[in-house]
Amino acid sequence: MLNLLDYDLAGLSAWFAELDEKPFRARQVMRWIHREACNDFGAMTDVAKSLRAKLGALAEIRPPAPLRDSVSGDGTRKWLLDVGGGNAVETVFIPEAGRGTLCVSSQAGCALDCAFCATGKQGFSRNLDVGEIVGQLWLANKLLGAAGGTPREDESTREDENDNGRVVSNVVLMGMGEPLANFDNVVTALRIMLDDHAYGLSRRRVTVSTAGVTPAMDRLREECPVALAVSLHAPDDALRDRLMPINRKYPLRDLLAACRRYLERAPRDFVTFEYAMIDGINDSDAHARALAALAREVSCKINLIPFNPFPRSGFARSPVNRIRRFAEILLDSGIIATTRRTRGDDVSAACGQLVGQVRDKTRRTRTHPMQTMEEVWS
Ligand code: SAH
Repeated sequence: MLNLLDYDLAGLSAWFAELDEKPFRARQVMRWIHREACNDFGAMTDVAKSLRAKLGALAEIRPPAPLRDSVSGDGTRKWLLDVGGGNAVETVFIPEAGRGTLCVSSQAGCALDCAFCATGKQGFSRNLDVGEIVGQLWLANKLLGAAGGTPREDESTREDENDNGRVVSNVVLMGMGEPLANFDNVVTALRIMLDDHAYGLSRRRVTVSTAGVTPAMDRLREECPVALAVSLHAPDDALRDRLMPINRKYPLRDLLAACRRYLERAPRDFVTFEYAMIDGINDSDAHARALAALAREVSCKINLIPFNPFPRSGFARSPVNRIRRFAEILLDSGIIATTRRTRGDDVSAACGQLVGQVRDKTRRTRTHPMQTMEEVWS
């Protein structure tokens, strides 16, 4: 059975051509699937009956199956999704005034092995396919009751031309995995997110976060530029080599140059640098000054993320005063820096804490502070 969540409009139209169906039929079906969150061909009332029967026999609309649905007191919601073979991934929805952000996973596990990341510790299982990536958005819309394009009665959102009245107004590929290491599937999924016949999100409202796979940053810039976040976490190669092994392959010089090239085509005029504040590791005044110097080389905003602890990480979160001081040094140097807010502590959904293994279930019942990621894509 084909899973139609795997197809962008070009792919669906090509398949429809094989079935001797016109391209406008593909657009129609695309809208039913993604705008209406419809997974029942029989309910696609304006699609010819014969086509509905054909589709029913050959295809399905199959998102990953939710294994668990955790709702935080502040409305943040996390789904654990089964992607088969004992693997699961996590998707997090963060509602905020005037927008709702969905944090989407791109891989089951991750091969990059960043020292401070729980996903990295579990190793790499496999790339998610297009339907599994888009399926997270499909499912969130369905489960949040957002399908049908009913506009919200909220002034702040109605004024926004890109909101489309959807509960999920922004997507960030900041869940499990390195999106640029699953390039083709991620780009097809992005195209579906951006397509007016599907989710119609603007490029500025879809953010890819990367640990710095520089050749793939160049490809993204050519093939599907969206907002970009880069996980920096260290202001010099010696420290970054230690924290993020990928830096040995693509060191800071290369990374900054790739960021500058990206900005020539990007929908926003800055890159967001993510910087986890880890006690005694990367959070000194000297680190802040070095980071400020580096940040002056690229149009950027820096997002400080208080480190999120996880069992046996060996790291601790920087004290609040240290983070404040660090941010002050950046601001005094003229760098825009924000600190990711912590809110809620009743489900574990923070950056670097996503571990989708089904067998890890018990670990997830621990409580960790959770943070909103609002500053990153504001
Ligand atoms: N692989 C991509 C996508 C992951 S996004 C990337 O590296 O950008 C998740 C963000 O959370 C990244 O910035 C990541 O570096 C950061 N992160 C990982 N572990 C963390 C932790 N324990 N505490 C705080 N931030 C963490």
